[in-house]
Amino acid sequence: MLVLFFLLLFIGSFLNVCIYRIPREESIVFPGSHCPHCNTPLKPFELLPVVSWLALRGKCRTCGVKISARYPAVELLTGILITLVYLSYGLSISFFAISFLTLLLIVMTFIDLDHQIIPDGLTIMVAVGGVFHLAYGLIGNTGITIGQAALGVLIGGGFFLAIAIVSNGGMGGGDIKLMAALGLWFGWQGILLVMFLSFIIGGIVSVGLLIARRKGRKSMVPFGPFIGIGTFLTAVYGNQIIQWYFSMFI
Ligand SMILES: [Zn+2]
Repeated sequence: MLVLFFLLLFIGSFLNVCIYRIPREESIVFPGSHCPHCNTPLKPFELLPVVSWLALRGKCRTCGVKISARYPAVELLTGILITLVYLSYGLSISFFAISFLTLLLIVMTFIDLDHQIIPDGLTIMVAVGGVFHLAYGLIGNTGITIGQAALGVLIGGGFFLAIAIVSNGGMGGGDIKLMAALGLWFGWQGILLVMFLSFIIGGIVSVGLLIARRKGRKSMVPFGPFIGIGTFLTAVYGNQIIQWYFSMFI
């Protein structure tokens, strides 16, 4: 079990590479990992997720530059989230599908935090995954219908497009395209829950940041991370959340 969790941390380590390199339009395969400051290639024992960072006390072994705690944090987050998907779905096709989506969302979230963009390549992968997920659900008769998925695309993309127009750029094009792609995964019912959760969490965090005076009223808080959290909660706990929500009124 611990070995499997460590394997998940390695996937998280790969996500760190994607988060750093995709917006810089660098290859995610070559060259191998190197210090972002002195460019010294990392030795195998420096590539162990979390462990290496702790052993080297968050510094490059060659130049001593501080390596952000976010690297091990992303690795741990990946391990924890995929474990949560497993606890909900067991070892099933859905586990692999939702895990794939979760990995894409982690990369998207941190790229949006760093650069305020959601790369089209990631959104296309979300959309392609959504088509496969939809097709699998149709064959097994377990998922949403094509009509529900089409409505999901229209509602997800359309609602965010409307916000972008009304707020004069308060919502980016990347958010609109991502929401449309997620409509393929969740249909209109699920995409409504994604929107509901992402706006509630986004609202709470924004108010918190305002109180802490971390961000001015006008300054930009990227919305992608909230879509990421709302989507993960919908994918893994959607049914429980809906039951809990309605049980409050009965
Ligand atoms: Zn270095």
